[in-house]
Amino acid sequence: MEKRDYYEILGVGKDASSADIKKAYRKLVKKYHPDVNKEQNSEEKFKEVQEAYEVLSDEGKRSAYDQYGHAGTAGFNPGGANGYSDFGGTPFDMGDIFNTFFGGGMGSDFGFNFSESGRQRREDTGSDIRYRVRVSFDEAMRGGEYKIKIRREDRCSKCDGSGSSSKKRKECPVCKGSGQQRQVRNTIFGQMAVMSTCSNCGGTGTVVDDPCSTCRGTGVKVKDEDLTIKIPAGAYDGMVLRFRGGGNAGRNGGSVGDLYVEIEVEISNKFERRGNDIYSTQSIPVYTAVLGGNIEIDSVFESVKLKIPKGTQSGTIFKLKGKGCPILNSEGNRGDQYVRIEVDIPTRLNGEEKKLWEKLSTL
Ligand SMILES: [Zn+2]
Ligand SMILES: [Zn+2]
Repeated sequence: MEKRDYYEILGVGKDASSADIKKAYRKLVKKYHPDVNKEQNSEEKFKEVQEAYEVLSDEGKRSAYDQYGHAGTAGFNPGGANGYSDFGGTPFDMGDIFNTFFGGGMGSDFGFNFSESGRQRREDTGSDIRYRVRVSFDEAMRGGEYKIKIRREDRCSKCDGSGSSSKKRKECPVCKGSGQQRQVRNTIFGQMAVMSTCSNCGGTGTVVDDPCSTCRGTGVKVKDEDLTIKIPAGAYDGMVLRFRGGGNAGRNGGSVGDLYVEIEVEISNKFERRGNDIYSTQSIPVYTAVLGGNIEIDSVFESVKLKIPKGTQSGTIFKLKGKGCPILNSEGNRGDQYVRIEVDIPTRLNGEEKKLWEKLSTL
């Protein structure tokens, strides 16, 4: 299939500003998100939009694309750089990790800018950290806090992550601060001028004259951290949570990577989850099936009263509205629970019971 033009995909002009591109991207991502859009090709469209944005939101990639089209970005491997391509789905954004953890009160200790506009992805952005947690079915339903231990590269506190003992970085003389270098390469398309990361400054656009002695000029230090992350109620197996700014600190003052936590949910022996609905089986005594009566059913959170009408057959399914799984991002709302009734046929009868059944059979 011929690749579509990235500007066309995002529906913006060639001269669109980065703000326009971001705006268009956000709109389309909402529109084509596979969780929202059930059209057959929505996932493909979603990926297309992601890829277009990967390229057009990055100055270097965009200029290469402007000059050489798709061939110019072939080496950039769009989609591979966004940190979660190894995971099956789109991560559930939990926001900035320090806001998530500490309620936003730690801002002053972390003198870096976590806001989205301040997080331009440059070549020296810290790498993402992946982590997997295994939770019980019950924990996934209720959500809550979960302790994890991670080893991450943190900012060097001595130089504030600048890598310089005077905390001053200088403009890179090779690229004049752009972080990009023009290089002529031989490719299958012939000779091409390609913009690539400046080798002198690693793409940061700045260099250090007086490397910090603690971090040897890298601006980062390895640290073991105990973190408490929040798992949303209704978390599902394979769900990936993204905590912005929870990854490794970037080198040479670069921005911080993200923390991705994949959730593994243990199988419950009582409940089966399908989407936001819960399926369960409940056995009832044969006399309740025949005469009717009230029984108690376990839902994921509470015990629920269910009225069994007389003459209920084995295999009958009752729906308990709103007693299913908590719906993500939808405070207090839950799916439904479907209860399949199994009538318990007695296998052992005492003398009196036997007589009664025999009497029934002759009526
Ligand atoms: Zn440079
Ligand atoms: Zn340092």
